[in-house]
Amino acid sequence: MTKTINTHLPNNIHICSSAELASKKVAQQIAHEILAKQKLGQHIVLGFATGNTPKLVYHELVRMHQNEGLSFKNVISFNLDEYYPMNPEHPLSYHNFMQTHLFNQVDILPGNIHIPHGSWEKQKLEQHCAEYEEKINRYGGIDVQLLGIGRNGHIGFNEPGSTLDSRTRLIDLHSTTRKDAAEDFEGLDNVPTQAITMGIQTIITAKKILLLALGKRKSEIIKKTLESSVSNEIPATYLQTRQNIEYILDEAAASLLNP
Ligand code: PGA
Repeated sequence: MTKTINTHLPNNIHICSSAELASKKVAQQIAHEILAKQKLGQHIVLGFATGNTPKLVYHELVRMHQNEGLSFKNVISFNLDEYYPMNPEHPLSYHNFMQTHLFNQVDILPGNIHIPHGSWEKQKLEQHCAEYEEKINRYGGIDVQLLGIGRNGHIGFNEPGSTLDSRTRLIDLHSTTRKDAAEDFEGLDNVPTQAITMGIQTIITAKKILLLALGKRKSEIIKKTLESSVSNEIPATYLQTRQNIEYILDEAAASLLNP
């Protein structure tokens, strides 16, 4: 059971008393959707995120797989993004992240996993990105998209300036994004300058979106995301235009919100 704190905020904003409880709430929703589709004998298309934020969600999903028999055999996955260039075997690639934190520990079929490739040839990049979009569409679109948020309001790697109609593409990484990755890469100079990301349009057409934000360092951007008007300066504000979005926050991330 997760404990959600009562406020007068809109009912799609859930504030949980800890990062663990917020993550469990997200994992439970994903599991619920997987099981609902299994009952219908259908596949489910899940959009996955990387970074520190979803780690506990994946941990809980792995626990459900191991202890409660939650199967991922009907899951088709599409990841939001990947650094470019990036060897999938690199320890900091998002391929490696997903294998380590989720895919290697559950029964998802390897052929159902899709992640933009950091080793796609530059000359064919546009074609690969278009094919990524086509594949998502061929599976009927994303059913549930899990999102974190960058301190500059990026979702996926849709940095400030990204437009509402953007699709999967190569993007230059913003200085805040690169600074935030510098510790993992042991120095700013080692952080890739570009990435491949699903676009804003790809993300917001998901049938359901779950945005998870944890910790004090996300409190300012969460306030801006929820309380400022929609603008490409803060790409996460585009989510305000969608009905089917839930914001799951821990108390620290929600601490600056007007009650
Ligand atoms: P984080 O990154 O989960 O590592 O904070 C989130 C993001 O940049 O989207």
